[in-house]
Amino acid sequence: MRPTALNPLFASAQALSGIGPRLLALLKKAVKLPPGVAEPRVLDVLWHLPTGVIDRRAEPDVATAVPGTIATLKVRVLKHRPPPRGNTRAPYKVSCEDDSGRLDLVFFHAERSFVERQLPVGETRYVSGRIERYNDMMQMTHPDYIVGPENRGDLPSLEPVYPLTAGLSGKILIKATRQALERLPDIPEWQPPAWLAARNWPPFVMAVSSVHRPQDVGDVSPGGAPWQRLAYDELLANQLALAFVRENYKAQRGRPVSGDGRLRSRIAQALPFKLTPSQHAAIAEIADDMAAPRRMLRLLQGDVGSGKTVVALMAMAVAVEAGSQAALMAPTEVLARQHAETIAPLAEKAGLRIGLLTGREKGKPRTELLSRLASGEIDILIGTHALFQSDVAFRDLAFAVIDEQHRFGVHQRLALQTKGGDGGANVLVMTATPIPRTLLMTHYGDLDVSKLTEKPAGRKPIKTTMASTDRLVDVIERIRANVAEGAQIYWVCPLIESSEKSELAAAEERHAHLTQIFGEGVVGLLHGGMAATAKDKTMQAFAENTSKILVATTVIEVGVNVPNATIMVIEHAERFGLAQLHQLRGRVGRSDRQSFCLLLHAPQLGETAEKRLTMMCETDDGFKIAEKDLELRGGGEVLGARQSGDAEFRIADVPGFETLLEAARDDAKMILATDPRLASARGQALKVLLYIFEQDGAVQLFRAA
Ligand code: ADP
Ligand code: MG
Repeated sequence: MRPTALNPLFASAQALSGIGPRLLALLKKAVKLPPGVAEPRVLDVLWHLPTGVIDRRAEPDVATAVPGTIATLKVRVLKHRPPPRGNTRAPYKVSCEDDSGRLDLVFFHAERSFVERQLPVGETRYVSGRIERYNDMMQMTHPDYIVGPENRGDLPSLEPVYPLTAGLSGKILIKATRQALERLPDIPEWQPPAWLAARNWPPFVMAVSSVHRPQDVGDVSPGGAPWQRLAYDELLANQLALAFVRENYKAQRGRPVSGDGRLRSRIAQALPFKLTPSQHAAIAEIADDMAAPRRMLRLLQGDVGSGKTVVALMAMAVAVEAGSQAALMAPTEVLARQHAETIAPLAEKAGLRIGLLTGREKGKPRTELLSRLASGEIDILIGTHALFQSDVAFRDLAFAVIDEQHRFGVHQRLALQTKGGDGGANVLVMTATPIPRTLLMTHYGDLDVSKLTEKPAGRKPIKTTMASTDRLVDVIERIRANVAEGAQIYWVCPLIESSEKSELAAAEERHAHLTQIFGEGVVGLLHGGMAATAKDKTMQAFAENTSKILVATTVIEVGVNVPNATIMVIEHAERFGLAQLHQLRGRVGRSDRQSFCLLLHAPQLGETAEKRLTMMCETDDGFKIAEKDLELRGGGEVLGARQSGDAEFRIADVPGFETLLEAARDDAKMILATDPRLASARGQALKVLLYIFEQDGAVQLFRAA
């Protein structure tokens, strides 16, 4: 159980005064929440770190204040000069002075009573804001702060600047973080004093408060001591949790699973193609690993279109041959359904019984499905996060495949593993994105890897070209010709930074435009906000070739498989990361026909953007592209901007990330070797660390050991 001292941090952010349901909803938009957390908590407010500071420390007198700078001045209020009656455009001015000169405070559209209350004539006030000179007069327009001498403390000398959202002001966040900081309990130190001293790192509580209430500009910099310390804490929690997971894996009796190959050969016969050599190799590696008397944790890496699904199916068949069950989990519902549809006909021919469980299966059908699962009438269960639900019980789960894994957290991996029967489940993780080494380490620690190195035979490389949006009319003409010849087209609309709404608007607009040209029913629209059934209908119409063009936001990024689609148009391609473009492009080129990808870009293209798009036109090798992407964007950013939007790290995306990570890994190793039960004083403190960074899954494991 979480130490009760931490409870105030895990309460809803509504516990903070000033935060009601309305602001809570806004907070939810502004802060990053860990997967599975629906509502911002006090802790999430603390992890919402500033992006900079406004420095209000300059306290000049009026005569020496520098126009254009932010300053805090102490002045006496002399006189109010409201605008002439009927002239709403003229400002309301308040004349003030100190011993050195005069300063006007200027308010546009001011509410008179407000200004009068704030600035009574004859009183002294501290005002803080940008100094301006106007017609030889020093002035300050709409001061950020006006406080009396008794409230001087309310005026921050270094004011943190937070990422905001419409309706959520910096002042609200400052007030909220101040209260959240007060809720930080006295926490035992988990870092060795010598380690902290060598780096000049402050204690944990002080680090959190320095970042939110900086005394120095360096306090809010990701490279500064307080932030670095917190980053290290987060990485240590991550590495420690992984180390425990791994240890637990090794400690537990593995479960050898092997079959006689009878289902696999039936599937192979049902396949309309021959497996590639690397598919064969991967299947053999997985089967060997499953047969070994230890638990398996293996990664299957393969570029988009390399045919991972069949490999997964063959591996799942091994578990079924052995008389057990298997599960396949996908990150989205669309993908889960797609997998089910691909696998169903093959499974049927091989005599495998499959089930599908997503958030959408409810009520009686769900209950029935679960009872068939529990009795073993289902061999393979395919689904989404829904597989984690506590009432989902297998008769005997021996093998779990997790697709596009980096969208799931450590907890969830643990949860699925524990659904395995005696000896736990063997786990295979599949990913299409070549994952950089550091990322592998933060997600899995050490694990075995199988790679699909070639694409299925007969595939022609996708021809990729780029064109400016100036040429949209020509592009549409070409598309028209292609549609007439039976082609199907994906049309992906621009990703607009941090604004889902406008991304949607762009897709809707393009959909309307293309419908006007191609006619009703020919053009489908797919976006993340659609109801599940509407999504299915749209996908189905496209898969069945009833609709010819599918306009989509980036929801089609992962996994969708419509082999007849041979053209991919990506609007504003310059706004996508290379790896993401490659993923999108991988939606075509899935048959033996020639496929095309058109990268539409803004007429004015910067030099780097031009280089990146040119590179996309020149190569179709996902691993090369991923490396280039990493080189162009830097590892930290790739981590931070992980396309799922729910980055695993909230703090640790800082300069020096890799060094910190390696140190954390070594530290975790050392801790596990010297204090495997976390029994020492440091060990006890480390448990608190794990709870604070929500790696309790690891603590549970450790307790069970
Ligand atoms: P991904 O690795 O991107 O998940 P899929 O498993 O979705 O790739 O496979 C992409 C397409 O290639 C599917 O239509 C699948 O049936 C087909 N495919 C898989 N393996 C082969 C193969 N050896 N030969 C020909 N086609 C294959
Ligand atoms: Mg796939």
